[in-house]
Amino acid sequence: MQEPKLIDIHCHLDFPDFNQDRDEVIKRTLDAGVWFINIGVDLETSQKSIELAEKYDGVWLAVGLHPTDRAGGEFDLEKYRELARHPKVVAIGECGLDYYRNQEARNPKSKIRNKQIKIFKQQIELALEVGKPLMIHCRDAHDEVLDIVSSFKLHASRLCGDIHFFSGTWEQAQKYLEMGFSLSFDGPITFSDNYDETIKNMPFDKIMAETDSPFAAPAPYRGKRNEPLYVKEVVKKIAAVRGVSFEEAAEQTTKNAINFFGLE
Ligand SMILES: [Zn+2]
Repeated sequence: MQEPKLIDIHCHLDFPDFNQDRDEVIKRTLDAGVWFINIGVDLETSQKSIELAEKYDGVWLAVGLHPTDRAGGEFDLEKYRELARHPKVVAIGECGLDYYRNQEARNPKSKIRNKQIKIFKQQIELALEVGKPLMIHCRDAHDEVLDIVSSFKLHASRLCGDIHFFSGTWEQAQKYLEMGFSLSFDGPITFSDNYDETIKNMPFDKIMAETDSPFAAPAPYRGKRNEPLYVKEVVKKIAAVRGVSFEEAAEQTTKNAINFFGLE
């Protein structure tokens, strides 16, 4: 297998948005030298991600339970443990906390918030057990995620993770980076300068690019269905903000993803 030119570290190509042309989308992605990590959000999509990764070289996956999982289900540790052993599983997630999409979770005493925290901790334990990093989803809850992760880190220094679709402040970014975590960025960085401070100041070896396809398409595809090829636009913006060439940013973000997730 040839070395990739770019890696989209977070997308959902198993989603119904790709039912009409999934294989074409994947083929044009891989033909362009772009690898990707398909992310499970519940048991069903984690299983589907395994099927995609088994079918194609250059495709990896993560298994986990999203904090706003539609089923609102419990975390079935036995089943996830079995899936997590698959050799192409490179992370546990996406998991984390989301106090934005679920209004009720904004209340610190709500059941839903406690449940999100419990399920997040179960996935941190699984990540430690199988020795794989976390793929963390966090909205409006960075201080709590930081608290939880750093308390685990006290006992298990090997715990590591990526903050997917990073949306926090530079101060919060620094706390994740101090713990050895990485941050990844998406389409919105192409049409907003909210993320420039973090992108510019963080260590270059901790930054990765993603699309979160089918969501959050970058400029100039805004409003359309996103796909992994568009990760190029995210990398272009990273290059511009850091004042390096596109080639340099492509090489660095690709190397970061290979090292962080152990892709080979
Ligand atoms: Zn996602």
